[in-house]
Amino acid sequence: MSNVKTLLFSEKEVKRDLLNIHSIESFGTFDGPGIRYVLFLQGCPFKCLYCANPDTMKFEDGKEYRIADVVKEAMNMKSYYTNGGGVTVSGGEPCCQAKKLISLFEQLKIEGIHTALDTNGHVMNQYVKNLLELTDLVLLDVKHINDSMHEIVTGKSNHKTLEFANYLREIEKPTWLRYVLVPGLTDKPEHLHELGEYFKDFKNVEKLEIQPYHTLGEHKWEHLGMDYPLKGTPVNTKDQLDKAKEIFEQYFKEVVVN
Ligand code: SF4
Repeated sequence: MSNVKTLLFSEKEVKRDLLNIHSIESFGTFDGPGIRYVLFLQGCPFKCLYCANPDTMKFEDGKEYRIADVVKEAMNMKSYYTNGGGVTVSGGEPCCQAKKLISLFEQLKIEGIHTALDTNGHVMNQYVKNLLELTDLVLLDVKHINDSMHEIVTGKSNHKTLEFANYLREIEKPTWLRYVLVPGLTDKPEHLHELGEYFKDFKNVEKLEIQPYHTLGEHKWEHLGMDYPLKGTPVNTKDQLDKAKEIFEQYFKEVVVN
């Protein structure tokens, strides 16, 4: 009997140590400073029309990885983390697994590794707050500043994302804003100005990254048997990117096209 009990207990312990991950990139250069070990976590409460990884949306998919193994792998990469590099958790929406990520980030911080959290800001709870204490940099994806448009783009209101942004401001957490520029959907000058006006006094915002719209995820939607909602939407012209950058530069000290 005691053996069964021990077995059950250890299975529970193992479960507690598992992260549900969609994929891992060892040499990421787009999600935070330097070279990064990027974990794309499974599951997302949004359903963005342009999602490049629609296979990360479902919570029940993904593959379970032991946190201890992830830490080991991240440590093997340590010599590459020069120029501010480190580990980024992205998704999907990583904050949906915040409780488990606390353990990951705790161990990474002990090892002196830079931690970044790439989030859409829709999930906030005590676990997320604790995770933020262990996070060096937040990459906050703001999908749209206009609430009705945000709902069209993601299926959800932007209220929680903006509350999340205000919390980051309150705790003075270094933050980069990220904005996907989709022709005809998120690129109206008045909306870009509105976003700039909203965030211009956030001293914790170090940078705004414009992420050009691309259609690389289109075949994934088709592969999953789903219609790609933005079929026929062209990628950005250089002129569109330049104009958006010019507008954002009126409000942010650093604006880059990622
Ligand atoms: S928040 Fe990211 S992962 Fe989630 S649906 Fe949008 S683009 Fe996809």
